[in-house]
Amino acid sequence: KLRTQNVLITGGAGFIGSNFVRSWHQDIGTTIVLDALTYAGNRATLSDLESQENFFLVEGDICDSALVSKLFAKHTIDTVIHFAAESHVDRSISGPGAFVQTNVVGTFTLLEAFRNHWETQGKPEYFRFLHVSTDEVFGSLSVDDPPFSEKTSYAPNSPYSASKAGSDHLVRAYFHTYGVPTLITNCSNNYGPYQFPEKLIPLMCLNILLGKSLPVYGDGQNIRDWLHVEDHCSAIATVLQKAAPGETYNIGGNNQVKNIDIVEQLCDLMDELSEDLPKSPAKELITFVPDRPGHDRRYAMDISKIQRELDWEPSYDFATGLRQTVQWYLSHRDWWQPLLSEEYQNYYAALYGDR
Ligand code: NAD
Repeated sequence: KLRTQNVLITGGAGFIGSNFVRSWHQDIGTTIVLDALTYAGNRATLSDLESQENFFLVEGDICDSALVSKLFAKHTIDTVIHFAAESHVDRSISGPGAFVQTNVVGTFTLLEAFRNHWETQGKPEYFRFLHVSTDEVFGSLSVDDPPFSEKTSYAPNSPYSASKAGSDHLVRAYFHTYGVPTLITNCSNNYGPYQFPEKLIPLMCLNILLGKSLPVYGDGQNIRDWLHVEDHCSAIATVLQKAAPGETYNIGGNNQVKNIDIVEQLCDLMDELSEDLPKSPAKELITFVPDRPGHDRRYAMDISKIQRELDWEPSYDFATGLRQTVQWYLSHRDWWQPLLSEEYQNYYAALYGDR
């Protein structure tokens, strides 16, 4: 490993952040998670780590400049891995303000504090600020377009992707203007354990278990490139350890799937793996609903740069990963049940009606 020792992981109580914390945390050095514990952050996900001496979960906002600066100095942080974000496109349509605040202002706040800390420490060459971003900044592809590369122009279409694009640009500017050793990764759709119930795969699994209808946007033909979260985490660790500051890498699974095909695969898996579903075959629950405004048709990632330069490859086969994920949700009701709060039910009803 790089001589990284004291790492600040923002958003480490969320889906990808918590998977990363679990794969990264080790005996040497210190791991600090900074997380505002919004609806998407869950302290319980990391509870087994909290008893360890060199692990700290700090509840706080990345927009809190004084707190962030204090953490950098107190724990002599040398590396930031920045996951914290408002991450759900549907919520960015109904309430874009929080996305601009956390994703743009929050990233700016972290960058400023990190620049100050790095300069105060004499600009050590091993410091890193790795910004975790998305393929959605590149906009939408039609079926025949080539996949997004690192050279594709930004063309974000949702408030979510626009706010992530804004944060990517700030990170880039801090490298070019101040020399801050930043890295950017843009990744495709993730799936796996600990994903909040609002996202496609857990949403469908939980609705099947609860006998609720399965809302599929538009004609269901939208295509996403799916990657197992553990593969995303291994790619981030690889970029951190091997990439030169200022670089950006696309990450994906070479695995383009239509939404409707995923939903049907999930129905089959649930029929097979769960004994007492309220409705079986689960496919009978599929309901097409009016399309999401501005819904991007297709995302696909060209991952040849990270394969060639850093020797990284995705390891999961999608059928295996999806089966494991379904099994995980089936055996972790204690994790997801408390997340179906009144706030969540209200959000759900406003988006899909009471179906
Ligand atoms: P998530 O919504 O599950 O987790 C986000 C975490 O950030 C939560 O723990 C939340 O409490 C925390 N947070 C939100 N606002 C905060 C603030 N102001 N201060 C501190 N913490 C705050 O998201 P995720 O799916 O794990 O995504 C993590 C990152 O990866 C995001 O930056 C996202 O844009 C990016 N990404 C996600 C995907 C995907 O498929 N989920 C794909 C590519 C990139």
